[in-house]
Amino acid sequence: MTYVIAQPCVDIKDRACVTECPVDCIHEGARTLYINPAECVDCHACEPVCPVEAIFHEDDLPRHWAHYLAVNAEYFDEAASPPGERRDAVGDHPVVAALPRQSVLHKKEISVFAVGKEEAADADLWFPS
Ligand code: SF4
Ligand code: SF4
Repeated sequence: MTYVIAQPCVDIKDRACVTECPVDCIHEGARTLYINPAECVDCHACEPVCPVEAIFHEDDLPRHWAHYLAVNAEYFDEAASPPGERRDAVGDHPVVAALPRQSVLHKKEISVFAVGKEEAADADLWFPS
């Protein structure tokens, strides 16, 4: 099991999660950070400190960001990085590299949208159709 960094981190990279990780398994790319699934000890320390809610347990990844499980894992692909070598600041996974610039305004819109979705789900529970 591992935690995963998804799209909200892209172009934010404030590194708040890095200082929390007890095993130093969060690595920095050019536009986002990545969690090495082979090193993550599933401790949950990083997830609450992320200001944009980019970090998820792999079982809790939203469906629209499910591919970030592979994005994080493939970033540490041994074909591209010899075992034990850190890949800090050496570029990004192609999925991340291809994303348009993620503005802070856009992230606020995402977070408002997420809250709206949760409220809608709660409303469905209390007022079933
Ligand atoms: S869950 Fe723990 S070990 Fe895994 S990346 Fe987060 S802080 Fe590091
Ligand atoms: S705390 Fe969140 S936004 Fe900040 S670097 Fe980590 S994953 Fe990215």
